[in-house]
Amino acid sequence: MSSIDTLIANTIRPDVQQLAGYHVPDASGYIKLDAMENPYELPYELREELGRRLADAVINRYPVPSYTTLKQKVCARLGVPAGYDVILGNGSDELISIMVTACARKDRRATVLAPIPAFVMFSMSARLAGMDFVGVPLRPDLSLDKEAMLAAIAEHKPALVFLAYPNNPTGNLFNADDMAEIIRAMKDTGIAVVDEAYHPFAKTTFMDRLPEFGNLVVMRTLSKLGLAGIRLGYMSADPALLAQFDKVRPPYNVNVLTQIAAEFALDHMDVLDRQAELLNAARDELAAELASLPGVEVFPSAANFLMVQVPDADQVCANMLAKKVLIKNLVKMPVLANCIRVTVSTPEENSEFLNALKASLGGTT
Ligand code: PMP
Repeated sequence: MSSIDTLIANTIRPDVQQLAGYHVPDASGYIKLDAMENPYELPYELREELGRRLADAVINRYPVPSYTTLKQKVCARLGVPAGYDVILGNGSDELISIMVTACARKDRRATVLAPIPAFVMFSMSARLAGMDFVGVPLRPDLSLDKEAMLAAIAEHKPALVFLAYPNNPTGNLFNADDMAEIIRAMKDTGIAVVDEAYHPFAKTTFMDRLPEFGNLVVMRTLSKLGLAGIRLGYMSADPALLAQFDKVRPPYNVNVLTQIAAEFALDHMDVLDRQAELLNAARDELAAELASLPGVEVFPSAANFLMVQVPDADQVCANMLAKKVLIKNLVKMPVLANCIRVTVSTPEENSEFLNALKASLGGTT
């Protein structure tokens, strides 16, 4: 063994050595439909104005760690109930990491539970924090298997349950009564996180139910709304619980430029909301077109992406790649085989995707 291999063997955790990191493909030159980004930029005049505000940013000092102005704006504009605060994160990825870090413990194994398929960072963050991850398969119709979830909660007594609402990668909304029953079942023993990353499209929320459930965390992000590049997530919960998580948050985790850009965006929510409406309409059109293709099944989505079952997902993805269209291959997903996930984009990019898919299905690539 070389000395670097010996060093790694002696220092890096074996499970980390085995881990395949979160892979983000290089998208230059591709139509990027794999990451649920908003394809529309802010109008140029707004970007110019943002540029002027960024020019005044104080970047020789650390950010103000309490982020008071931005937090107040988030609470006021994004429906956080009166009396509730938020914690901000470098994307909701960081908030997931903060929560699992706070719940992972040395004295006994702690568990994270989620329906599967789920957003991959739930299991990845849990494992990185040294927690067990238990995935409960959705039913074949992609609904929550409430009985199986309740049984798994009774068996594993998870510290955290993640429920994405709408779910990624399936795009559907779980039944809110089933979710409430799951949250209630965990009452004093576990924290239920409702991940509303796709709230700008679905508009459904548990945010107003925070007072009803002391063990509920509602988490959202500005990423899907058109601000993926600035990395800002937020979560709200009972103030006492939030205070515990806040101890785990790295100091200065939201940088000055992000704070300015986020405040600016929150002042122009009307523009972002209109973009989300456009994307919702485009999603429904794309879904209808996909549904008319032989051998293709498209699943109901309340988000800015569609999950689509095709005869051979590997082949479709390979053909798409050859045509410079990046989508997500879900071929190995639990519950359903041969699915792909495509982000809804501009009419032009949606057509490019559709044409490439038709060519792939027709074998004319
Ligand atoms: N939750 C879900 C359900 C997601 O799909 C994603 C992004 N794919 C995230 C959280 C992470 O979002 P962010 O960009 O805020 O880290």
